[in-house]
Amino acid sequence: MAASLGYPEYAEGDFEMWCVAPPQLVETVKVTSPTGKVIEGAYIDSVFVPEMLSRFKTAKRKVLSAMELAQKNDIAITALGGFTSIIFENLNLLKEQQIRNTKLQWERFTTGNTHTAWVIAQQVVHNAPRLGIHLDRAKVAVVGASGDIGSAVCRWLQRQGVGELLLVARRPQPLLDLQAELGSGRVLELNEALAEADVVIWVASLPQGLSIDADLLPRPCLMIDGGYPKNLDSRFSGDGVHVIKGGIVEFWQDLGWQMMEMADMANPRRQLFACFAEAMLLEFEGIHTNFSWGRNNITLANMDRIGEASLRHGFRALALEPIQAASLIPA
Ligand code: NDP
Repeated sequence: MAASLGYPEYAEGDFEMWCVAPPQLVETVKVTSPTGKVIEGAYIDSVFVPEMLSRFKTAKRKVLSAMELAQKNDIAITALGGFTSIIFENLNLLKEQQIRNTKLQWERFTTGNTHTAWVIAQQVVHNAPRLGIHLDRAKVAVVGASGDIGSAVCRWLQRQGVGELLLVARRPQPLLDLQAELGSGRVLELNEALAEADVVIWVASLPQGLSIDADLLPRPCLMIDGGYPKNLDSRFSGDGVHVIKGGIVEFWQDLGWQMMEMADMANPRRQLFACFAEAMLLEFEGIHTNFSWGRNNITLANMDRIGEASLRHGFRALALEPIQAASLIPA
């Protein structure tokens, strides 16, 4: 990608070089909503791979320098992107407001998690019935339930009404806190939840995909993999198990950028991460504030608000392919 973008010196570089490589503003883009409103923005890349997670200073520098670059380019609202926002939160970069001679203005940044959570909730309600799964009596497991996106999806699905929420993560206490807040839901180990779940939502922050025993799963089973990097391996698709890429949206027309080509999108000209789309939506709506910020602050009202904007401005959540859906609905 670096070579095709005109950075041959980086394309030849090794891991150590990428650790010190500064962020780049690689593309500018003009986006038109079906309402006719046009916005302009940019894509900043601060290459980060899971192997860099253990290097505290590298991770911190990668994120803060990219934020500095966005602010210096006077970008009013920037989505940090999945991995970047997790580094920001886990390393508590809120206390690092000063970077070189720039004081970061937090209101210029959003994690994009509110829109991501809304999109994943839509993917559940629109696709489960297509597989013959009745949500009002279905068991829905959320892996990463105590996380920012996971807890928001749980709140939204509880309001919507599902049979039962199965809450999964490693640490029990945050799950028990969520259960108390929801007034429902069952805390289970991963394998216990997989053995019962009609729908599994993957929103755990994992550096690499988990290996699970697909034989455990009831059939049909809808899996929405919202993790980035992906929580699951695509080989789990098939034989009654249907995996959708979670938290991905498709725009109503081509976006004039190349960047999604390296993100394994089926239609990279139109598809993008929901968190990136949140920045576009906030710009379309003139909401210049850190709309999604911190952990477990996502409200249902904000999910509804960003969801309405998403539909108005021409985004739709990725869904099951028609053949995949048709093959499973009982006759
Ligand atoms: P958080 O860090 O807030 O939450 C992560 C959750 O995963 C926590 O509940 C954590 O709990 C749980 N978890 C971590 N490791 C494991 C494990 N091995 N097994 C089970 N649970 C685990 O993350 P976010 O909610 O911000 O993001 C979740 C995912 O969504 C990430 O992969 C992120 O990259 C992706 N994302 C995707 C976006 C998109 O646009 N598609 C946008 C933003 C994020 P515990 O530590 O107790 O296990």
